[in-house]
Amino acid sequence: MTSTVYYGSPRQARLNAKETLPAKLDLILEALHLRDRVKNEMVCLKLHVGNNIGYSTIHPVFVRKVVQAIKDGGGKPFIADVDWDVAGCEQRGYTSEVLGCPVYPAAGPRENYFFAHERDYKNLKTWKVAGMVEEATFLVNFAHIKGHPATGFGGAFKNIALGCMVGETRSQMHDVNHYDKYWFKENCPDRAVMQQIVDSCPFGGIVFDKYDPDELHIHFEPCNQCGRCLKVAPPGSLKIDPVNFHSFMEACAISTDIVLSTFDKSKVTHLALATQMTPVCDCFGFTSMPIMQDAGIFGSDDIVAVDTAVLDQTANSSLFLENLPTCMEAQPNGGHPFAQLHGKFKDPYMVVRYGEKLGLGSMKYNLVDVFPLTEIGPQSQGYYISAK
Ligand code: SF4
Repeated sequence: MTSTVYYGSPRQARLNAKETLPAKLDLILEALHLRDRVKNEMVCLKLHVGNNIGYSTIHPVFVRKVVQAIKDGGGKPFIADVDWDVAGCEQRGYTSEVLGCPVYPAAGPRENYFFAHERDYKNLKTWKVAGMVEEATFLVNFAHIKGHPATGFGGAFKNIALGCMVGETRSQMHDVNHYDKYWFKENCPDRAVMQQIVDSCPFGGIVFDKYDPDELHIHFEPCNQCGRCLKVAPPGSLKIDPVNFHSFMEACAISTDIVLSTFDKSKVTHLALATQMTPVCDCFGFTSMPIMQDAGIFGSDDIVAVDTAVLDQTANSSLFLENLPTCMEAQPNGGHPFAQLHGKFKDPYMVVRYGEKLGLGSMKYNLVDVFPLTEIGPQSQGYYISAK
């Protein structure tokens, strides 16, 4: 199966609003026939509304366009995100007056409105899908693309996988990294050597376990798999193994599968905005400098295809090394820029591979540029906009 991904480039030939991303979003919404599909539907527009003083989440100009398209089509839109991001989101411009529809905590203000789904995966058994999401009859998944310390990147999968589950399930998903054993204390009984292992990590990636000081605990988020700790650890005592990193990505694919299974296949669509891509997730509550150049806006009914297209479009970008926070260390490992930033075991393609395996879509796609760039020279048009 080959899916279609509609694409708007961030580049423009002319200094004209029609060639910029919000206008290209309009063209993508038309191509997806969003207006024709939402009559009388209760439409959940899943956004990540960020946190605290972050300002690189999806700008209300884009959000309002999607809301208006849903209203034009006779749908009833609302925006949903996790409770702690929605609380205070008016500080970042996300209000019903600006956006044109209400913004709700997806599982209620106390996260006690959910539907439980059973699926065994490592430490996870019960997955609690936010009530406002599952109650909706149509889902528009609008993701902001950025780096992510656990999955390499945050895209359409991550927006659903974590943003549509209650906090208890999100915590269990983050714990899945620890399911497969990586510390074998019988091979390192000397506490002084354990301390050396802890001290070897410049990113605070290894600590003594707070519940059992004989155990070491890896924080997988800051770990970029540099291997410094392995040079200090006695043979057989410590593993930095792909399985621990990949578990979280597989859990994200399963979580997405569970959420999407609550919708009719024809009643879901995905949008992704790849601008102002920061090193870590929007939930950190601040905006860092961009780590690569803007890649544009994408839309598809296929979640696997849309995230694959984003990754392919950014694969040959150079990381803006001079923009990285100085506490981070990129490694030229030959992989995707997001993997150079977060380590090769956080290959951002893993989540889409797991998603494809679950039957959520196809990594094969046709990219349809909704406004192909016409190369024009500087003489083709004057660029001065006269005052009116
Ligand atoms: S591999 Fe590197 S980043 Fe990861 S825990 Fe070891 S020293 Fe820290």
